[in-house]
Amino acid sequence: MKDKLIRSEAEWRAELTDEQYRVTREGATERPFTGRYVNCKQDGVYRCVCCGQELFASDTKYDSGSGWPSFTRPAGEEAVATRRDTSHGMIRDEVVCAKCDAHLGHVFPDGPGPERLRFCINSAALDLNSDNDGDAGEG
Ligand code: FE
Repeated sequence: MKDKLIRSEAEWRAELTDEQYRVTREGATERPFTGRYVNCKQDGVYRCVCCGQELFASDTKYDSGSGWPSFTRPAGEEAVATRRDTSHGMIRDEVVCAKCDAHLGHVFPDGPGPERLRFCINSAALDLNSDNDGDAGEG
C-alpha cells in the first residue's frame, strides 16, 4: 500500500475551497447536476482534489443519468478504498481516496460494465488533467 497522506483539519481547510472541504473531508454530497464534471467528456485522468492520486480514467466515465460523474471502475487496484456507510438510513458503500481518505462518493451494484459497478463520485472531489499533484510537500 502506498504511503498515506495525513493532514490536519486546518491544513485541509487552507488548501481546499469550502465546497471541496465539505465534500472530501466532511462527507457532504454536492447537489445533483451541479458539479463541473457531470457532463464532461474530456479525455484524461481524474485525480483526487486533495492529494493528486489518480482515481478514475475518462474512458471509464459514462452517463448514468444520476447527476453525478459516474465511472465503471477505479484507475487502479489501489486508487480507492470502500467503507460501509449506514448514514441517512441507507446501507451504502462509501468510496474514499486510498491515499488521503478523502470522501469521493459511493459505489452501487448497478453499473453497465463487466464489473457491474457504478462509482458515483462528487465533481468537487475530482481534478481533471491538472499537473498539480495537490501536495506541495512531496516532490
Ligand atoms: Fe486523496
